[in-house]
Amino acid sequence: MTSALETLRRDFGGDIIEPGAPEYASASRSVLAEGSPAYVLRPRSVGDVRAGVTFAAGAGLALSVRGGGHAFAGFGTNDGGVVIDLGALAGVEVTDKERHLVRIGGGATWGQVAAALAPYGLAISSGDTRSVGVGGLTLAGGIGWKVRKYGLALDSLVAAEVVTAAGEVLRADERENPELFWAIRGGGGNFGIVTAFEFAAHTTTDVFYGKITFPASEAATVLQGWADHLRTAPEELTSVAELANPFAGGPGAPVEIRVAFDGDDPGLAARAVDPIRRLGTVIGDEVALTPYADTLVDGMTPPPGVRVVTRSAFAGREAVPAVLRILAEAGAAAGSPFIAVRSVGGAVSRVPDDATAYAHRLAELMFVTTVVGPQPVVEAARPALDALWGRLAPHVSGAYANFLASATEADVAAVYPARTHERLAAVKRHYDPGNLFAGNHNVRPR
Ligand SMILES: Cc1cc2nc3c(=O)[nH]c(=O)nc-3n(C[C@H](O)[C@H](O)[C@H](O)COP(=O)(O)OP(=O)(O)OC[C@H]3O[C@@H](n4cnc5c(N)ncnc54)[C@H](O)[C@@H]3O)c2cc1C
Repeated sequence: MTSALETLRRDFGGDIIEPGAPEYASASRSVLAEGSPAYVLRPRSVGDVRAGVTFAAGAGLALSVRGGGHAFAGFGTNDGGVVIDLGALAGVEVTDKERHLVRIGGGATWGQVAAALAPYGLAISSGDTRSVGVGGLTLAGGIGWKVRKYGLALDSLVAAEVVTAAGEVLRADERENPELFWAIRGGGGNFGIVTAFEFAAHTTTDVFYGKITFPASEAATVLQGWADHLRTAPEELTSVAELANPFAGGPGAPVEIRVAFDGDDPGLAARAVDPIRRLGTVIGDEVALTPYADTLVDGMTPPPGVRVVTRSAFAGREAVPAVLRILAEAGAAAGSPFIAVRSVGGAVSRVPDDATAYAHRLAELMFVTTVVGPQPVVEAARPALDALWGRLAPHVSGAYANFLASATEADVAAVYPARTHERLAAVKRHYDPGNLFAGNHNVRPR
């Protein structure tokens, strides 16, 4: 351990933060989890990342890799181990203006990316929150405001620079290390630390963005009509339906349909969005032309002790009516969690299911429930939450790794269907046979 530490101090050019240091209190926690790691390492270069990986492996300490730190399961910290916090590797550079290629540091956030690309008239379909990391979101999927038109964030990834468990620096793309490239597009942080992502960005104009609100009593008809409309709506339209939003009153709150129309032509936008307006009694309509970067909202770090419990699943077309009926009822009942339903069809479903390790391409909708509060509140909500998921179980399948607050065997099996899991385990064995990168929905080496 001492010699591993001596080597680290010699080779590492970034900050090494230990308990007792003034910045330890903030450095030790990720956004949604507190922790007490022995070392928080903040690399400034790829060489630093290699030194950090070598140290964690040599010292036999648990390793957490932190990108934007937003994992609901708290992967960005641990107790007594090493955290490699990539926050200083946040450069965003347009490397090829004609092909719109963009190189992004492994610790950048989507707010940094959106702001840096805006002057070029470019954007990458990502998520809805500025502070969320490019790393975690992309490696497990990436469902954002342009998802129906351009697919998941990982569908725009063309290459990555990866530091492996052995401290090697590899390029992964369709030609070099193609199995690794397949695995990191959906397999999370299991295979190494991505120090740089290379994306093909998309041109963007301002977009029509905002929410349309309906009374809670109309939830069932609005949700069914919304899902029907999205089947034939232009793929420029991406939408999320929300029920029981705690910021709008919780259980029984109005139904909020958030829309993003990828384009600035008011006529085309109206043609795509007006059918939603006709689904019921509109009690609020805030849709307006918005710079794409401004559609992203700021995330929040909850106060100590507050937990955020998120669960997710997918539904194919046949199951959608039953699932939406159950959710409409649940959202109006006392004790309902916050419910979000995201449309994930369009471009996502045109990529073959086995082309990347994200294996939920045939789903039409994704459902997320979230409960937020101190531990006793979260515990008190559990029976109602379990009952809701029990009713959903016959109709839904899978889970989206990025919207899961736990990482049990059952979660891993839901994220990775058997064939995907088997292929991932083989890639894992090749690149991380000792399972150094275990702070994730972990795929053990086969
Ligand atoms: C407020 C909020 C809003 C969200 N909105 C969306 C949304 O709109 N769409 C969506 O798809 N998801 C969304 N998410 C979920 C989000 O995608 C996940 O929480 C994701 O894991 C966050 O990535 P991160 O880098 O910030 O987190 P981290 O906790 O830092 O990392 C998550 C996982 O990825 C690994 N990892 C991160 N960076 C790297 C890297 N460079 N190399 C190797 N491994 C790495 C970590 O080790 C960890 O296992 C949201 C989450 C929150 C909290």
